[in-house]
Amino acid sequence: MKRPLVIKFGGTSVGKGAAFLRAARIAAGTAENGPVAVVVSAMSGTTDALLGLAKSTAGSTPRTSTGGSREGSLAEIYRALTDRHLRAAREAVPGEALPEVEERLRGILDRLAEVVDAPASNFKARKDAVASFGERLSAEILAGAVSGFGVRAVVAPGDPIATDGNFGEAEIHAGETRRRAGRYVRPLLEAGSVAVVPGYVGRGPDEAVTTLGRGGSDLSATVLGRALGSEEVWILSDVDGVLDADPALIPDARLIPHLSYREAAQFAALGAEVLHPMTTAPAAAAGIEVRVRSTFNPGSPGTRISDREGGPGVRSVALRRGLSLAHVAPEAAENVFCVLGADAGGLKVLAEGGSGDVAAVVCVGTPTDGDLLGGLRCLHEGGVRPIWAGNTSTGLLFAVPEGSAEVALRALHAGLVPPASRSGTVPEPMEEVA
Ligand code: ASP
Ligand code: MG
Repeated sequence: MKRPLVIKFGGTSVGKGAAFLRAARIAAGTAENGPVAVVVSAMSGTTDALLGLAKSTAGSTPRTSTGGSREGSLAEIYRALTDRHLRAAREAVPGEALPEVEERLRGILDRLAEVVDAPASNFKARKDAVASFGERLSAEILAGAVSGFGVRAVVAPGDPIATDGNFGEAEIHAGETRRRAGRYVRPLLEAGSVAVVPGYVGRGPDEAVTTLGRGGSDLSATVLGRALGSEEVWILSDVDGVLDADPALIPDARLIPHLSYREAAQFAALGAEVLHPMTTAPAAAAGIEVRVRSTFNPGSPGTRISDREGGPGVRSVALRRGLSLAHVAPEAAENVFCVLGADAGGLKVLAEGGSGDVAAVVCVGTPTDGDLLGGLRCLHEGGVRPIWAGNTSTGLLFAVPEGSAEVALRALHAGLVPPASRSGTVPEPMEEVA
């Protein structure tokens, strides 16, 4: 068998019937070229609803011991979940496959009701079990939708990702995941089906359902890619790829054609929302190329993430607000965002919180001393007086007064990040079936 491609669709990529169809068309088209495993998020907003459900029903048996209004609101949540998924299925799944998909969705919703109603001693375990249902529902709809394009698609009969028992933020067990993927996913691929895997969900000791933390479907995709020996993992969402700044703050933020694993991990850790911060680690360990691209704009080349380091220069800028500058004894260092250095006064740090009157613009990439000088010049021209500037483990960092945060970000983006077209090769667009 050719090495399988893993494609992950985010919550807005399966946000309604039309989105499922678009995602299914991409999966089916890609499957013509070789085996494809699809990792899917819950329909956007579903995980929040499920976590709300878990919380509001924790600590009592909801159907029997609570007042009428709560029972009513629970029934409403069920009805909303049911309506939303059945409607998406009707819009995305072809008639001949629809009855079976509807039956599966109802079965999953019944199991959800059982989990919610069952007495639980471990609330964290119960919360994860409830939260996992969003991905189980969307997986069934997506599999049905893919079949509408004439390609067989099956939801994996077991959860392939093995974890520890740290509910809510479980750690991956790579060896056991490889075995589980061999048991639950590989046979589907070998039989020529697209294998659909609910993201975000794992199995801990004694098969307990765990979750990988919010946004964890990205991580599911690279973990599954590593387990299946993939060369490439695609992360598909509603943005064109990784942008070189937050577009909410920098309207002309541009697509970055290529990032190294290191740069992508640094940028994600600084809060770039397009990727879960842990996503690149399994990919880097296995040499898997990650492509971040848009479901809604398949012609856009997206961002490639690989072990290839680009040349010197700043690739992207990120802003951290609400920090404070402090001198502390090393043993008393708390809430440290970044260590700036040490001198006779102790450790100089930027701490989270405190006075909150400092912001940091962090430049990710391979910054040079020239970038440091260039950045200081940009800030000067923009009328911003930096509080501190230099290279740190998070990247080239400019600390500025909180009130100048956005001016500084714009000045440094304009001055230090070269236009995307100069910083890498442009990958080819995705293939699709009509
Ligand atoms: N559905 C989960 C969440 O909303 C996981 C994900 O979408 O990646 O956090
Ligand atoms: Mg996400």
